[in-house]
Amino acid sequence: MSTSYDVINPATEEIVKNVPHLDIEQTDAVIAKAAKAFDTWRHIAPGERARLLRSFSQVVTDHREELAQLEITNAGHTRSNALWEADNVANVLMYYAASPERLFGKQIPVPGGVDITFKEPIGVVGIIVPWNFPMPIAGWGFAPALAGGNTVVLKPAEYTPLTAIRLAELALLAGIPESVFNVLPGKGSVVGNRFVTHPLVRKIAFTGSTSVGKSIMAGCADQIKRVTLELGGKSSNIIFADADIAKAASGAPGAVFDNAGQDCCARSRILVQRTAFDAFMEHFEVAVKKFRVEDPNLATADMGPLISKKQFDVVESYLDEEIAFTGTAPTGPGYWMAPTVLLPKNTNSKSWREEIFGPVVSVLTFEDEADAIAMANEGEYGLSGSIWSRDVGRALRMSRAVETGALSINSNSSVRFWTPFGGFKQSGLGRGLGPDALDSYTELKNVFISND
Ligand code: NAP
Ligand code: MG
Repeated sequence: MSTSYDVINPATEEIVKNVPHLDIEQTDAVIAKAAKAFDTWRHIAPGERARLLRSFSQVVTDHREELAQLEITNAGHTRSNALWEADNVANVLMYYAASPERLFGKQIPVPGGVDITFKEPIGVVGIIVPWNFPMPIAGWGFAPALAGGNTVVLKPAEYTPLTAIRLAELALLAGIPESVFNVLPGKGSVVGNRFVTHPLVRKIAFTGSTSVGKSIMAGCADQIKRVTLELGGKSSNIIFADADIAKAASGAPGAVFDNAGQDCCARSRILVQRTAFDAFMEHFEVAVKKFRVEDPNLATADMGPLISKKQFDVVESYLDEEIAFTGTAPTGPGYWMAPTVLLPKNTNSKSWREEIFGPVVSVLTFEDEADAIAMANEGEYGLSGSIWSRDVGRALRMSRAVETGALSINSNSSVRFWTPFGGFKQSGLGRGLGPDALDSYTELKNVFISND
């Protein structure tokens, strides 16, 4: 039995659109078509596949305003973020459009003949996307998957299906053949789970919570299904007294409150060296109070609402620790929350340990490098983080010691499509983006040709 979902604008609580959900039979039918389309897509000449991906990129660019507007309305993303996100899809498509013509193997010296390797497509790839960055996370999966010669079935999050649905239409407009890139709105427990159990889906690229990621990985074990996971985080923003404190403080709100803190890379723990604590907090308070939480349609907005009432309630449950100060937020309809700075008692406090996924940050002090490393590495997450110091040696030592996948020094920006992205420990498995992403979307084949 099919169901449907009313998409809600989180800034107004108005219903935007009713989106039908696929049931198991409908999901199976799309997977069967994607498996059939794989036969043709994989055999399209590399140059032609590249041209089609460049065309897809151009069509996304031509529709950037429309896509951005959909995301503002569907997810409450600020206008500047939403435009960046649409452009990111176009950029990632363009970046991986270079891959089909450069999918090199190796010629390996062996006795008695010639040995060569090929990077073969895997088949139908299932991509499961969360609601926090619907466009970029979808693109980080489907662009390298398509470039590798795979066909794609993509399940957007229930809350945020609109841009994914539109991207599938734009793919057809760009000339990507029918059934090569398929978007299947539906429930995780139905459509997402079917990707895991269906034998014709040969790989899963999952982004979402660590708990669901574990169940996906366990499910994939049954068919030795390839799986990559991008999961949660509790990342540290580590500020030494020898840093440019004013700069570190003015960047800290954006590093955690961007997208209302609903960011797996959010630097939701701030570690300040004790001797710099007062100076940092003084600058930080000014920056937090300047952070504009307002109608996401406004070009001036730094932050919009949370995605849902449910998420609002979850985040609010963390506000029972000492509050240092807050920013401001609109009142009235919408899931608005002011950016909030907490002073937890110690590293055992709930706000320090758990991924909050909202506009809440916790600040603690540390004494020295060893102390900062121990605090940053506590817990099972290891996704991102920042290190602020003018001492190059210290910054390098710290960057090697912090157990996370994507770090930035004297900067809070660690996500670029040119560079690998993914987590240590329970923040994930495998890496996306960067020059090697196609390794996760191809199978390595070795062929020996005898001299005889
Ligand atoms: P989630 O609950 O894990 O859901 C993610 C996706 O998985 C959704 O599409 C969901 O569908 C689907 N799903 C749920 N249960 C499933 C199942 N049993 N089988 C297959 N699919 C299933 O995560 P979320 O609440 O959307 O997103 C927040 C989490 O994502 C945070 O922990 C955050 O850190 C993480 N995240 C990580 C990254 C990264 O790159 N590392 C990026 C963004 C977000 P429904 O929508 O129907 O539930
Ligand atoms: Mg969820």
